[in-house]
Amino acid sequence: MTIFEEVKELVSVPTVARYYGIDVRRGNMCLCPFHNERTPSMKLYEKNYYCFGCKAHGDVINLVQEIFRISAIRAVKRINSDFSLGLDIDRPPEREDIERINRQSRCVSLFS
Ligand SMILES: [Zn+2]
Repeated sequence: MTIFEEVKELVSVPTVARYYGIDVRRGNMCLCPFHNERTPSMKLYEKNYYCFGCKAHGDVINLVQEIFRISAIRAVKRINSDFSLGLDIDRPPEREDIERINRQSRCVSLFS
């Protein structure tokens, strides 16, 4: 399992969203941080988020990346320290894991 997968196992999207100041409301809906809106159209699932307004979607790492405009690995490091996960971030990753994760990250579109 990669460090990315471990982080996704250990923290849920609603927990992380709340921690970073997103107002999560009934039904795990929240105001989308990626477009302007007055009524919540982003749905938070345990492992993913999806905005019915701007179609932004991804996993918990993508969410932290987009909130702070940081790379995937920095998002992982941030979650690891903010949530005291104690993961060994600096262990060498598998090459195919890196390629797979890069492909997945590119699927996130903010302004489609
Ligand atoms: Zn949106």
